[in-house]
Amino acid sequence: MLRKTKQRSIIMDILRETRNHPTAEEIYLKARLYMPKISLSTVYRTLRSLVEEGKILEIKVFGENHARYDYPLEQHQHFYCRKCKELIDLYGDFYYPNNIPHKVEEIRTIFIGVCKDCLKEENDEKV
Ligand SMILES: [Zn+2]
Ligand SMILES: [Zn+2]
Repeated sequence: MLRKTKQRSIIMDILRETRNHPTAEEIYLKARLYMPKISLSTVYRTLRSLVEEGKILEIKVFGENHARYDYPLEQHQHFYCRKCKELIDLYGDFYYPNNIPHKVEEIRTIFIGVCKDCLKEENDEKV
């Protein structure tokens, strides 16, 4: 039981500190630094239960095989760069249609495009 609590708190800490939406494998590599005996399947299982409890977010990007995980610090949306594959946090007010005839509990939007760093690189290449 104690072990389980420790695994959960390590995974939560990793997600709170890394703001780049790591995959389960990336979380596993980091978690091993703190708990050398942790297994990848334990990481998957722990992530799944944290997601079910609403403690962390699971984000699936269309076209990617691996889900990414996020610690919900503040309400935010995401921008996905199709060039560098970064998933970037977007804060601010977004406007959504208010004529949805259902009970909306959560809004998860992924904006897809080219991030400003990649755009800059593209422009530099042209010069
Ligand atoms: Zn990019
Ligand atoms: Zn995020």
